[in-house]
Amino acid sequence: MASVPAAANAIIAAKPSCSPLLPLSPSSCPFSSALSGQPLRLQSRRFAAAVMPRRMTVVFAKKKAVAVLKGSSKVEGVVTLVQEDDGPTTVNVRVTGLTPGSHGFHLHEFGDTTNGCISTGAHFNPNSLTHGAPEDEVRHAGDLGNIVANDEGIAEATIVDNQIPLEGPNSVVGRAFVVHELEDDLGKGGHELSLTTGNAGGRLACGKLMLSTVASSFHPYS
Ligand SMILES: [Zn+2]
Repeated sequence: MASVPAAANAIIAAKPSCSPLLPLSPSSCPFSSALSGQPLRLQSRRFAAAVMPRRMTVVFAKKKAVAVLKGSSKVEGVVTLVQEDDGPTTVNVRVTGLTPGSHGFHLHEFGDTTNGCISTGAHFNPNSLTHGAPEDEVRHAGDLGNIVANDEGIAEATIVDNQIPLEGPNSVVGRAFVVHELEDDLGKGGHELSLTTGNAGGRLACGKLMLSTVASSFHPYS
């Protein structure tokens, strides 16, 4: 019988304690601070939504990525990729230390080089097709054909390709470029490896493709 009035007293005492008009500690009235703070936060959100889009428009126009190729041999190189909006990707490659002639040049599925170039896996192949030439409809996305080294062992090339974007579900950022020992037969050599690797032999050097810069145009009051 004595406990009921005690509980009623406690509730009556708590009601005035929770008034936001009274200066009280937050621990005695947890709802007080939440109620008084809520209108301010809503006002802040409305301000941001109404004002920010009119004040600036950021257009991401050009993405760039780079891979530094290293291997167990003296072969090394740099591969730079640039893509504007959703257009094709332009690949600039320079590799040194090669034997003169053609060398298979591919984008492999993994950026993992913990076990050398072997751990970069197979050619990047999101559509589960067979190996081919860059201009073929049936090809791995990573099939970029051959680069050709001159008498000094230097291969320089510019490749423009539609299947190696720098963003989206088939982004190649984080994957690896590999330059091979032999010429890629582009799937047409009749060798048992022609339709998987182009029979391009060992992996001389490789490098993980990393996002480099994202150039953007900025219009503060458009
Ligand atoms: Zn391939």
